[in-house]
Amino acid sequence: MAIRHARFVMLAAAAVGLVAAGLPPVAAAEAADAAVIRGFTAAHSAAERTTETAYKAIPSVAVARDLDSYLAAKTGLVGSTGDWRRVQYVVAKLRSYVRLQPQIKTYYPYLSVPRKISVTMTAPTRQVLPTKENCRSVETDCADEVVGYNALSPAGHVKAPVVYVNYGTVADYQALEKAGISVKGKIALVRYGQVFRGVKTNLAAEHGAIGVVLYSDPKDDGNSNGAVYPDGPWRAPDGIQRGSVQQLWLYGGDPLTPGYPATKNAPRINPADSNIAKIPTTPISYAAATPLLKKNLTGPAVPQAWQGGLPFTYHYGPGGTAVDLNLDIDYKISPIWDVTATIPGRTFPDQVVYVGAHRDAWTYGSDDNLSGAETVLQIGRGLGQLLKTGWRPARSITLATWDGEEYGLFGSTEYAEETGGKLANAVAYINMDGRRRWSPLRRVRCAVTG
Ligand SMILES: [Zn+2]
Repeated sequence: MAIRHARFVMLAAAAVGLVAAGLPPVAAAEAADAAVIRGFTAAHSAAERTTETAYKAIPSVAVARDLDSYLAAKTGLVGSTGDWRRVQYVVAKLRSYVRLQPQIKTYYPYLSVPRKISVTMTAPTRQVLPTKENCRSVETDCADEVVGYNALSPAGHVKAPVVYVNYGTVADYQALEKAGISVKGKIALVRYGQVFRGVKTNLAAEHGAIGVVLYSDPKDDGNSNGAVYPDGPWRAPDGIQRGSVQQLWLYGGDPLTPGYPATKNAPRINPADSNIAKIPTTPISYAAATPLLKKNLTGPAVPQAWQGGLPFTYHYGPGGTAVDLNLDIDYKISPIWDVTATIPGRTFPDQVVYVGAHRDAWTYGSDDNLSGAETVLQIGRGLGQLLKTGWRPARSITLATWDGEEYGLFGSTEYAEETGGKLANAVAYINMDGRRRWSPLRRVRCAVTG
């Protein structure tokens, strides 16, 4: 964690300095090795290097540890008291680091709030399947953890036989059709991977399924690959991947205010016309999926490409196994909070370099995305120390921690919608979000909308 932090902060720091100087990131990275930085005079190159050297000495593993030990001690689900605790801490830190007035931007999106999520196998025997992980000692209060569920699933109660549809892609449904198997009126059992989970729900609905159970197969990210958490990085048998099933390809952000900010009194569209998923969908672990797939599910055996990592032959169904899926999900308009802080540019104050990361998370953990939010704070700390020496950036720099990313990019989308045409002056956006495999190209995405 600490090593990743330090390496990452340096990368982001270099990008801020160089992009602020007016170079695209790739050219900037190449230029960093040259004697004279492209776009700078020799004298300015020397000054820029001096500034960058001073900057790179500031990020500290000890600070990363301090930030993380406070922030990761509680969960931070969007709009929760844990999320508000993170907001207050981020505001206090930014204020202390750069002596700016951080702004809290409050929006009022339509949030799904699970009241009771239940998945019960009803055939051939009755078995209630777990919808939450086992409590582990590293988690200080498991009652704070939200149940395993998919944000932006509709509430609903459906009972039907199960059909295993592999990853639930277009090609998978074509293969099912060739095999003479339909999901019409059935519950699709879909493994995570290959495509966005919202696409899986949408395709299942298009093919007539009345509900979806998503699960994480051990072949994709579980014990087929190596040691599982807490002994290794792979998903434990009881681990549940939470996530949004919003129809993100229609639009991101608040379902009820497409294209404009979710302010308190903004007009709202009808939820039935929004990007909320069409059929009840919920995720379970591979331990929970085992009784559904093992022996009980009948029908022909699946082809090799569909076989997952559980130690028995998978079958398509339908037949043998049925599920009662009961999702009691409330929807309500609730406040969420972005935090931003801007350092005005000296030469081109209207041009803005954004450095942002989402601050909300599903449960505990430093990854996805406290590591990103803490890096925003470390960058703020470094810039604050440079400001004290009289340095000023050529362009304005806005630091941001976004809320509600896990529900469908809520905080950054509403911010972009409210900021509107001013975002045309953004010269770069550096986004930081957790990934298991470290890659600068995947972590640093240049876009203006978040
Ligand atoms: Zn994330």
